[in-house]
Amino acid sequence: MSFAQLGLSDALLQAVAEQGYTDPTPVQSRTIPLILDGKDVLAGAQTGTGKTASFTLPLLQRLAENHDIKQKPRKLRALILVPTRELAAQVFESVKTYGMYLPFRTEVVVGGASINMQTRNLRHGCDIVVATPGRLIDHINQRNVNLSNIEMLVLDESDRMLDMGFLPDIRKIMALIPKQRQSLLFSATVSSAIKSLAAQLLNNPVEVEVAKPNATASNITERVYGIPREYKRELLSYLIGSNNWKQVLIFVRTRHGADRLEQQLISDGIRTTALHGDKTQGARNKALEQFKNGKVTALVATDVAARGLDIDDLPHVVNFDLPQVPEDYVHRIGRTGRAGASGEAISLVCPEEAYMLVEIEKLLKRELPRVADTGYEPVSLKVFDAPKKRAPNPSTGKKDYRHSKKPAPRRGGAKPETGGGRRGRGR
Ligand code: AMP
Repeated sequence: MSFAQLGLSDALLQAVAEQGYTDPTPVQSRTIPLILDGKDVLAGAQTGTGKTASFTLPLLQRLAENHDIKQKPRKLRALILVPTRELAAQVFESVKTYGMYLPFRTEVVVGGASINMQTRNLRHGCDIVVATPGRLIDHINQRNVNLSNIEMLVLDESDRMLDMGFLPDIRKIMALIPKQRQSLLFSATVSSAIKSLAAQLLNNPVEVEVAKPNATASNITERVYGIPREYKRELLSYLIGSNNWKQVLIFVRTRHGADRLEQQLISDGIRTTALHGDKTQGARNKALEQFKNGKVTALVATDVAARGLDIDDLPHVVNFDLPQVPEDYVHRIGRTGRAGASGEAISLVCPEEAYMLVEIEKLLKRELPRVADTGYEPVSLKVFDAPKKRAPNPSTGKKDYRHSKKPAPRRGGAKPETGGGRRGRGR
């Protein structure tokens, strides 16, 4: 099916063609006609599936269908809520790009950027706002924005918004938006929490779910290096240097870990920068820009900071720490091998993380290939008896906890940036 067959207008078809897109992605083919038809939609689709265009294109078309160009000041008619500033910037770019032949004014409203400029632009009037919930609430409290004319509402990466504790803010915002509206809820995973959110926000929604991108894509080579924790950095520097990698995204668990690894790689002579939630918006933009334009080779990031990053054709992704939440493995490696390009996803796994590897492989329903010769003393990534299967100790008749899956508590106590899973934090 072509974009024209989906029912998009010439102004949008032109913009899409200029992006070089020839065919809609599955999520686009399935959601665009529904949204154009005025339906509420609950879509399960991850980054990399083309989800942003799947709500942006029909949203622009619906607004254009009854746009009063003479209306002054402009009424705010569409609100797109996203969890992070990075995603807001990316969605804003998409709205601008796809809407380049349409007369809409769009404003992006996020924390970490000047509130005065946002206030001025909001008061001046705009048709579409892309916002993170916290900053939007600030503007609502200051009466800079009127939500009573909203016709279309999008919640993007809704699961992340719930994870980040935005539910109360979302509820507050919802109370100010007319009930008579079209609502679209996008989420990487459709959990029971998301279904219950959908039940509160959507009206008779159509549910669309597309396959996870890249999870089993054959164009991504995945490899696991079993290695003691203290040698991970040395191995990483060796892999980057000996293979002459030009661009590598490295995932770590904590902000502190990101800063430390950044410094270590720099001292190994690798041009490196880090991206995490403690950095100012300016510093984050700079880090990303340097990575995209090739000024730095390695970008060290936490999962939260990396969410929403749109970097095309990333050749190498390294899990320096395995993610606490197995689904994040899929998000992480989905950053490589996009659009048919080949990519490499490497995980450096120490014995203490072996139980996380088990969880990831359970989710993927396949084993990740191990590198036989890492150049270091081999380590075992075997996990002993899972707690559920514990057999009573024959001599005492009591259950033996010595081989519990959970590792010993870690020293240092750095908190994961996601604040998510609690595993691995002692018994
Ligand atoms: P998203 O899932 O929205 O983060 O999009 C992932 C990437 O796919 C972005 O770089 C888009 O520019 C790109 N993209 C979106 N739709 C298409 C399409 N129909 N054909 C090719 N690339 C696309």
